[in-house]
Amino acid sequence: MPTSFEFNEPGFLDDDLRMVREQVRRFVAEEIVPHGDAWEAAGEIPRELFRKLGALGFLGMRHPVDYGGGGLGAMASVVLGEELARSTYGGVASALTVHSDMSISHIAHRGTHAQKQKYLPAACAGEKVGAVCVTEPNAGSDVAGLKTRAVRQADGGWLVNGSKTFITNGVYGDIYIVAARTDPDAKGSRGISLFIVDRGTPGFTIARKFDKHGWRSSDTAELFFEDMHLPADALLGEEGKGFYYIMSTFQTERLVVGALASGTCAAAIEQTVEYVRQRQAFGKPLWDQQVVRNKLAWMASKAAAVRALTYQCAQMIDEGRDTVREVSMLKAFGAETLQEVVHGCLQLHGGTGFIIGTPVERMARDSRILTIGGGATEVMLEEVAKRM
Ligand SMILES: Cc1cc2nc3c(=O)[nH]c(=O)nc-3n(C[C@H](O)[C@H](O)[C@H](O)COP(=O)(O)OP(=O)(O)OC[C@H]3O[C@@H](n4cnc5c(N)ncnc54)[C@H](O)[C@@H]3O)c2cc1C
Repeated sequence: MPTSFEFNEPGFLDDDLRMVREQVRRFVAEEIVPHGDAWEAAGEIPRELFRKLGALGFLGMRHPVDYGGGGLGAMASVVLGEELARSTYGGVASALTVHSDMSISHIAHRGTHAQKQKYLPAACAGEKVGAVCVTEPNAGSDVAGLKTRAVRQADGGWLVNGSKTFITNGVYGDIYIVAARTDPDAKGSRGISLFIVDRGTPGFTIARKFDKHGWRSSDTAELFFEDMHLPADALLGEEGKGFYYIMSTFQTERLVVGALASGTCAAAIEQTVEYVRQRQAFGKPLWDQQVVRNKLAWMASKAAAVRALTYQCAQMIDEGRDTVREVSMLKAFGAETLQEVVHGCLQLHGGTGFIIGTPVERMARDSRILTIGGGATEVMLEEVAKRM
């Protein structure tokens, strides 16, 4: 009988990705887990952590080799996301993956040579941290409803006014990818463009750091733009294509949510199997109750399905196929299954699972956001339904 539960390694990972997994797993054990509680209390992750991961090449694995990246595919994002999530510190995993896979990737995908040269090497090295700024106080799920306005100036630059909310890495970040409306007359999604905004740009204020239910070590900001002047070359990609760019990067963001769900499920189930094997009640270990074993086996089966769908989506993305339906299924199914698993595991920890700071308690809090952020479950299911 094995003493712990662990998924089998997916057979189609190549040697490079197996090595990445081993290295990230060791990094998590040595450099994240021992400090996670302190970072949760501080509400901040030290920049040194980004630098260390950057030096190992893990922050730019998807970015072009010419600009300091690793040139790898979607599978690399999955391995990184799973292993960071296995740390049980969701705040750390979210801050790092928003930087590596959800914000700076806009520059990697559609930046000019000059923009890539200016931003990518520093981002890959963990010297500069990225944030993606789409959500506004009155536009969350409905991205096309965003109101932040960018008006072209006589010198070719832009004057930006508006606000953003719930921005991960927003308090301590350096490079902000900001979505703004450049054509107020164009319908909904058509008049939106993306801009690169540097921390410290006059007119840009970090107005608030939110106190959150979970992800406590990651910083989440409200931002204001008041007559913020941007140079012409702050525009990212083509004017008016911002909505399309956001939706296309959402595919990676949602894939990474699948990986975070898969890694968190694995950690929660592993720890709970260990716990119920040693925890005695009614004269025997909890594990000896068939209902307990069944419950864990059922959760493990669903978690394995999340993992399989995550890897399928990564493979489809790497093959250049349209994945909107499958990735939307993954975001919905992965995040909802995660709730069932972390709360099921918390239940099997009894009172211990309710005590602040136990890993299962933290995983339950940290997981809650994943059915909401990056596309709520209801919105994801509509994307699936539209394609049925
Ligand atoms: C910790 C945290 C970090 C975040 N990080 C970022 C970030 O880095 N960048 C960024 O831009 N945003 C970020 N967000 C914002 C996040 O993406 C939004 O919260 C999310 O998109 C939902 O938007 P909303 O909160 O405005 O909810 P609303 O859009 O008001 O929706 C509320 C609820 O209504 C339901 N709902 C919504 N639409 C529908 C529908 N069509 N049909 C049925 N039900 C529906 C869903 O249950 C949803 O949860 C973050 C949020 C949090 C809390």
